[in-house]
Amino acid sequence: MENRVFAASCPDYRPEEVRQAVARIFEACGGAGRFLKKGRRVLIKPNLLLAREPEAATTTHPEIVEAVAELFAAQGAAVTIADSPGGPYNPLMLSRVYRQCGMEQAARRAGARLNRDCSSSPVHFDGYKPRDFEIIRPVLQADVVINIAKMKTHMLTYFTGAVKNLYGTVPGLQKAAYHSHMPGQQEFCRMLVDLCRCVHPDFSLIDGVEGMDGRGPSGGRVRKAGFLLASESPFAADLAAMHLCGLNPERSPVHTFASAQGFVPAEAKRLEWLGDPVVPLAEPFVPAAGRSRRSESVINRLPGGLRQPLRRVFIAPPRVSERCIGCGRCARACPAHAIVVQNGKARVQPGGCIRCYCCHELCPVRAIEI
Ligand code: SF4
Ligand code: SF4
Repeated sequence: MENRVFAASCPDYRPEEVRQAVARIFEACGGAGRFLKKGRRVLIKPNLLLAREPEAATTTHPEIVEAVAELFAAQGAAVTIADSPGGPYNPLMLSRVYRQCGMEQAARRAGARLNRDCSSSPVHFDGYKPRDFEIIRPVLQADVVINIAKMKTHMLTYFTGAVKNLYGTVPGLQKAAYHSHMPGQQEFCRMLVDLCRCVHPDFSLIDGVEGMDGRGPSGGRVRKAGFLLASESPFAADLAAMHLCGLNPERSPVHTFASAQGFVPAEAKRLEWLGDPVVPLAEPFVPAAGRSRRSESVINRLPGGLRQPLRRVFIAPPRVSERCIGCGRCARACPAHAIVVQNGKARVQPGGCIRCYCCHELCPVRAIEI
């Protein structure tokens, strides 16, 4: 994969600012038309983790999705917007997410289609481990895949950007099954590297106009960063983003596995930077912290067979705070079925919990504490 990274400064989400920044990125990389040589069916894959308003910086901002969709539609492409959010994957859930995340309006204005087909198919990939990835149908049907991620810290994977965004190509609760087969951070991140290579998006953008630090990917703090990044390589885009946010790529298992296999340089200074001059933030992003994160980094240094039993001993299960409204989303998404909702409140059964943090990601009111 290429190591070129295209940067565009974009101070806010005013439509003109975003359109100009997106246009500069595509001009610098040779124009949107170059991707259409493969075909006219373009799939845009934003981060639509959960039904939340764009201002919360949990999901890809709709202005960026709209600007990219417009650019391709203007060249005669048939554009579809698709993601498999966290939790169940069905048309009802998709409608809620599209509406809340601003995608309905973005799609309508850009002349793009919102995917409502919830089927998927297995795709075999020989990576770190040979396996069949279950992938949502619109991704498989597309000629061109444009990945548009959000720039955030992450409780399990340290950073989430272009590579982790592709986890949303796995349908709904199938994601929970992956967590339960690969509960540890290291195994899970190796799988993410393989999945990224399997999906192999044509171009990856990262929405870094506003990102999230601290307890990401959904419970952190909104951070203004003021740029868009893009690359043919999702690994390179993530490395560039971590560099600009002041995060340490060596703490990202996805990055360390990818660089050890030669998919991306180890350091951002080895990337080829093009486009607007952008500099690292004066106030770096604060990584996801807490007792669990510190224990995880110690456990990661142990041999593989010891990690999961020790995670259960040394990493505390999540706690449910008073904010819980008893919606049951955490219980439905929990891969270990370790959450019950009783008397309008969720309760974690510590013995069953595999410490995957899916509940933390998906709670709409940030009631899960790690
Ligand atoms: S913890 Fe959050 S997701 Fe779970 S039931 Fe309570 S409010 Fe819903
Ligand atoms: S309780 Fe939360 S952290 Fe534990 S297994 Fe269930 S979803 Fe994962």
